[in-house]
Amino acid sequence: MQNTKPHAALLSSPGLGHFIPVIELGKRLVTNHGFSVTVFVVTTDNSLSKSQLLKQSPCPDLLNIVLLPPVDVSGLINPTTGILAQLAIMMREALPKLRSAILAMKFCPTVLIVDLFGIEAMVIADELNMLKYAFITSTAWFLALTLHVPTIDKVIEDNHVKNQQALVIPGCKSLEFGDTFGPILDRNDQMYTEYKRMGVDMQKFDGILVNTWQDLEGTTLGSLEDEKKLGRVAQVPIYPVGPLVRAVKPGPKSEMLEWLDMQPIESVIYVSFGSGGTLSAKQTTELACGLESSGQRFIWVVRPPIENDSAATVFKTNHGTDDTPDFLPDGFLTRTREIGLVVPMWAPQTEILRHPSVGGFVSHCGWNSTLESIVNGVPMIAWPLYAEQGMNAAMLTEDIGVAIRSKSFPAKELVVREEIETMVRTIMDEGDARRARVRTLKSSAEKALSKAGSSYNSLAQVANDCESAFKYLKAKAQG
Ligand code: UDP
Repeated sequence: MQNTKPHAALLSSPGLGHFIPVIELGKRLVTNHGFSVTVFVVTTDNSLSKSQLLKQSPCPDLLNIVLLPPVDVSGLINPTTGILAQLAIMMREALPKLRSAILAMKFCPTVLIVDLFGIEAMVIADELNMLKYAFITSTAWFLALTLHVPTIDKVIEDNHVKNQQALVIPGCKSLEFGDTFGPILDRNDQMYTEYKRMGVDMQKFDGILVNTWQDLEGTTLGSLEDEKKLGRVAQVPIYPVGPLVRAVKPGPKSEMLEWLDMQPIESVIYVSFGSGGTLSAKQTTELACGLESSGQRFIWVVRPPIENDSAATVFKTNHGTDDTPDFLPDGFLTRTREIGLVVPMWAPQTEILRHPSVGGFVSHCGWNSTLESIVNGVPMIAWPLYAEQGMNAAMLTEDIGVAIRSKSFPAKELVVREEIETMVRTIMDEGDARRARVRTLKSSAEKALSKAGSSYNSLAQVANDCESAFKYLKAKAQG
């Protein structure tokens, strides 16, 4: 690595939802700001799809990806340990490996940028005199919740948890109980303690980057500035740098994309629940029947329902009369052969969403999927499953107006086939207002990221601060 420009170390926790935007942030620092970047990735055993993605995603020369050796946390977690706590524990266990890797570098990086779960790594930045930034791979609204949790925890307990009232996040949109973020519901759970600590620690950093942009969440970003003036949030600079979404690498076309080439413009609805989302058996049946009766063309990334197979990543071997997996209605594949593709487990999502034949997305509202939909001008049916997806769904439907959702949310009841059929028809209607709105946002996203756009400038400010620190430290070292 060169030593004429700042070198940034980025840390990604396990999970594609963090890895993808962290890599994209690294690419921007290299391409637009001349940095060299090392992305450290904490791995678990099942990092296969990650390495597949590494191959797919073009990386500039000055971006180096280091997979830290897998951490073994089997003795530290039990079946009741929630995912947020598991991630925090994995990241904690990986710290010695990260420290050794940074110490082994020829030049110490100027800055350490970590995602939400890597916040404890900042002891290393303190020790090595590096600048400290967090990168929130979600919304400004979620950031606002995270920063406020330490001071509103009594309100959370009394109003939100006990009485199931909407949670007032000071200066921001309130959070309905049905859309809530699970880890804030139980103060006695380790997830709550970990999450609260993240909210406290982040406020001492040099800055917080967030994967959003001014036109998308201007009101919330403005509220956060007001909250700082009121002293309810620390004076930590907040930089909206998004939307950072995975770039598509040019290459040979898959069969799926060839099939899409043959479909009319905006005629296909894409159905996928992220890297890990799974539905119940009953819900899978309702979704299949709803899709079929809508008569709409579709691509559906299907996983076996969770009750029937706890190893949700493996297809069951039983099949119906026409090779339809037995968790789908018998004969489904035959009846939908002309209009639909059922894809087991995984599909090239960014390639699909950018295809002109795709006109709608049934999404679990993971933030990366949401951004990928918006930057391709695709309206959504919001189908949140876990983490902060309920918040994302509420924002997309009520505030931003690019999605619809079932009346069964947020009550989390079964979404019946008739309602699915209606939602599919609604979102695929070319005159639907949400289509026009998402197209406007697509343009505003492009503008934000282009030279002198709001997100470009935001990251340039971070880059300038790193450059100043780099020059200062270099001059100091040279005496
Ligand atoms: N993804 C994909 N193919 C799939 C499912 C997911 O390429 O079949 C990618 C998707 O494009 C997104 C990421 O995996 O970039 C999932 O991130 P997101 O934040 O949407 O959800 P998470 O998986 O973290 O819940």
